[in-house]
Amino acid sequence: MSQHKYATLAVHAGQQPDPLTGAVNVPVYLSSTFELTGIGSDKGWDYSRAGNPTRDRLEESLAALEGGTSGHAFASGMAAIYALVATFHAGDHVLCSHNVYGGTARLFNMIVRHYGIEIEYVDMANLDAVSVAIKPATKLIHVETPTNPLMALTDISAVCEIAHAKGVEVSVDNTFMSPVLQSPLALGADIVMHSTTKFLNGHSDGLGGALIGSKPEHKERFLLVQKAAGGIMSPFECFLVLRGIKTLPLRMKQHEENGRAVAEFLSTHPKLKWLAYPGLKSHPQHALALKQQKGFGSMLSFDLGSRGDAGRFLAAVKLFLNAESLGGVESLASHSATTTHASLSDEERAAIGITEGLVRLSVGIEDKDDLIADLDQALKAV
Ligand code: PLP
Repeated sequence: MSQHKYATLAVHAGQQPDPLTGAVNVPVYLSSTFELTGIGSDKGWDYSRAGNPTRDRLEESLAALEGGTSGHAFASGMAAIYALVATFHAGDHVLCSHNVYGGTARLFNMIVRHYGIEIEYVDMANLDAVSVAIKPATKLIHVETPTNPLMALTDISAVCEIAHAKGVEVSVDNTFMSPVLQSPLALGADIVMHSTTKFLNGHSDGLGGALIGSKPEHKERFLLVQKAAGGIMSPFECFLVLRGIKTLPLRMKQHEENGRAVAEFLSTHPKLKWLAYPGLKSHPQHALALKQQKGFGSMLSFDLGSRGDAGRFLAAVKLFLNAESLGGVESLASHSATTTHASLSDEERAAIGITEGLVRLSVGIEDKDDLIADLDQALKAV
C-alpha cells in the first residue's frame, strides 16, 4: 500500500473488502467477545477491548496515512493524550507546548500531575528554552502545532533534533493539520496524536482519538494501554472515521481553499485587532509553515478587542455556528476563553495570550463567497 499516492491510500489502506463477504465497506463488528477456536487459540480476536476487526482496519488506515508502524484508536483525543503518558512513572518529566488545547492542560494539570509525573510547559518556538528544560527524567516532549487557538507553530524537525540528541521522544498533536497537511513522523517525530473528532472524521458526528507509533515498542505500549485501561474507540465510531478518511484529501483541498480566502478577506478588515493564520505573510512563522506544512488549513483566530464584541459577532453569524470543535464540513466560530480554554484561570489565559475578544474559526467546505458574506455581515454588528 505504502507505494501508493495519498488519495489512493485514503480510500484503500485498511479499507480492503471484507474477506468473509466481499462487502466493499468495512463491516461494523458489534461484538464484545469472539468464539475461541480452543484453549488459548482464536481467529485473531478474543475480546473487543483488546482488539476488534473494525478497529484494526481503522488503525491500519491511520498508520498508513501518517507513515507509522502502528495505529491505535481511542475513545477521544483526550483518551489518546492520556495513553501517551499512562505508562509513565512518578518522577518522570514531560515537556509540553505552552499554549496547547485547554483540555490537554486540564488533563496534565488536574490529573497526571497528581501521579507524581512532572509536567513543564515551554514556549516551543524558543529552541534554547526547550534544550535547557530537558532533564535526565524527561520522557517525552509533547508538541501541538499549530496550537489551539493561537496558531503558533513549532519547528518539528528542530525540536526532534534537540530531543533525540538527549534520548527523548517527541509526540506531535497533528489535529489542526490532519495527516494530509503535515507529516510529523517524516519530520522526525516519534509519535503522532490526533483527535479524530475533527478533520479525520470530518462530519462532527463522533468522538475519537488516535496515536500512531513509529517503533515496535510503541505498538506494545499503546496496545497495553488500550487493553488495560480500556479507553478504546467503539466499532461504530471506527466505521465513521474510516468513512470520513475516504474523502479526507478532497475535503482538505476545500478546507484549504476556503481557509485562505477567509483569511485574506479578514486580513484587511478594520474591526480586527489581530489575526492569526499561518498562510498569511503577516504571520510571524509563515516561513516555518511553508517549510514544514503542505498547506495552511482552515483554522484561524482573531481578536475583536472585547468579550462584548466577540459576543455580538457570535450572535450575528448565520452560516458559521457558534459552537466548539473544528474540522467538520460545517463552519464553526467559537469564543476560546469560555469554551476550549475555560478550564484555565484568567491569569493562565492571559499568560499565553488568550484574550476575552478572541474568536476562533473552523472554516468548513461551504461556498467561500457565502462564508465571506456571512462574516462581513456579522462584523457589522461589532
Ligand atoms: N487536541 C486538540 C488540538 C484539540 O483541538 C482537541 C479538541 O478540541 C483535542 C486534542 C481533544 O480531542 P477530543 O475532543 O476528541 O477529546
